[in-house]
Amino acid sequence: MRKPIVVGNWKMNLDHLEATYCVQKLAWLLRDARFDYDSCEVVVLPPFTSIRSVGVLVDADKLKIGYGAQTVSVTTQGAFTGDVSADMLAALGCKYVIVGHSERRKYHPEDDATLVDQVRAILAADMQPILCVGESYDERKKGIELEYAVGQVNDITRDLSEDEASRMLVAYEPVWAIGTGMVATSRTAQDAAHAIRRHFADAFSQAVAERVRILYGGSVTSKNASQLMSEAHDMDGFLVGGASLDPEEFDKIVRLT
Ligand code: PEP
Repeated sequence: MRKPIVVGNWKMNLDHLEATYCVQKLAWLLRDARFDYDSCEVVVLPPFTSIRSVGVLVDADKLKIGYGAQTVSVTTQGAFTGDVSADMLAALGCKYVIVGHSERRKYHPEDDATLVDQVRAILAADMQPILCVGESYDERKKGIELEYAVGQVNDITRDLSEDEASRMLVAYEPVWAIGTGMVATSRTAQDAAHAIRRHFADAFSQAVAERVRILYGGSVTSKNASQLMSEAHDMDGFLVGGASLDPEEFDKIVRLT
C-alpha cells in the first residue's frame, strides 16, 4: 500500500527565519486539526540555506514533517564551487530531492545525462528522488502529452535496477500549469499518472509499479485539491509550489489529500 504524500517546493523563497516560522505554523495547524501523519506524508523542500534550520526545528520539536532539497550535485566532493553533494544533504536529514524540475531544466544546463547522475547520487545517499516530468503547451496542442511524459521518465530511469526504480517518486507537472493558475483536469492528471505507472510495470515489474509514488504538480491550491484527487487511482499526492509558502493554505491541501 503506497502512502500518500504532499510535498511543498518552496523554490527560492523563505530565508532560514521565515522557513522556521512556516514549518512551526504548519505543524501547529496540523496538530490543532489532529492530523494523522500515518495517513499522509508531509514534506517541505526549502532552499539550501534554510534546510539546517528546518532540520533543527523538526528534531527539537519531534515534528513528523519531512524535508529535502530542490536539486543536488552529481559529484561527491571537491573543486565544484557552489555545488552541494547528496551526502551533505543526507547528513542534514534530507529524505527527498527534486530532479529535473522544469525551472532547473530551463535555467540551468541540466540535460538528461545530468539528471541520470543526480538520481544515482540521491539513491546512493539513501534519499529518494522526485523526478519531475511533463509537457509544454506545444506538446499538449499536438496531443502527445502522455508519450512525452512517459518518454521523459524512461530517459532518466531506464538503467536503474528494480530496487532503485521502486524508490523513485515521479511528479507529473505539465509545464503550462506551473505557477500559471491553470490546472490540469482530474482526468488528465489521472491519465498521466496511469500511463507513468504502466510504464514502470512494463519496463521493470508490477511490483515496482505498485511501489512508485506518482504526484501531480501545477497550480494546486486548497480550491482544486479535492477535485484533482476525485478520480485518482494512480495519483499518490501533490507537489505544490506557490501554495506551499502559506502554511494555512498548505495545511488545507494536506488535509484534502
Ligand atoms: C512546482 O514548482 O513544482 C509547482 C507545482 O508550482 P506551482 O504549484 O506554483 O504551480
